[in-house]
Amino acid sequence: MIISGPSGSGKGTVVKQLNPDKGYALSISVTTRKPRVGEQHGRDYFFTTEEDFHTMRQENNLLEHFFYVGNYYGTPRKYVEEQISQGKIVVLEIEVNGALQVKEKFPSAVLIFLMPPTHTELENRLTKRGTEDTGTIEARLKQALEEVPLIHRYSYLVINDVVQEAVAKIDAIVAAERMKPIRCSAEIDKFLNN
Ligand code: 5GP
Repeated sequence: MIISGPSGSGKGTVVKQLNPDKGYALSISVTTRKPRVGEQHGRDYFFTTEEDFHTMRQENNLLEHFFYVGNYYGTPRKYVEEQISQGKIVVLEIEVNGALQVKEKFPSAVLIFLMPPTHTELENRLTKRGTEDTGTIEARLKQALEEVPLIHRYSYLVINDVVQEAVAKIDAIVAAERMKPIRCSAEIDKFLNN
């Protein structure tokens, strides 16, 4: 499952509220961005140098990668493959270009776009967060507008107004996806053989 959305859409907050007991496993990305205050290596990201990032990419250790507003970001392949083989719902919180790369490789991936109710609200959240300077905020808002037309490549749009409601909607998406015949071969076999 991929969750994308503009910087400030609340993806990080929503993703952290997904209950691991329901089978969610969060993928942790690698980035060359500097840690923000309070961010921890190995919990929020694997923070790395450009040199190490490119080595990972060349050795095919990244499932996807993208250069976003001045920094590289990528998804380590191994964790995703291990968790999928254990039947987990692997959650990637990544931007749209990376999301579309994953969709190419895993056509059954479920792509969810998370959006704040308005553009003004997005600006308020980014300014209030206070983790970026004005130039970076402007670049991220511009990027957000560029991402919006790509929503149509996504499976679902979730408006993130109240966090708990957004989390409930994602649980509902998982429940519905599990009922798609393409994911029900075990149930179909059981019916045919009993
Ligand atoms: P931030 O710097 O705010 O943590 O992340 C910036 C953007 O990069 C966000 O839209 C976030 O979802 C995205 N991002 C984080 N990790 C990855 C990744 O591994 N791959 C891609 N393609 N985007 C990522």
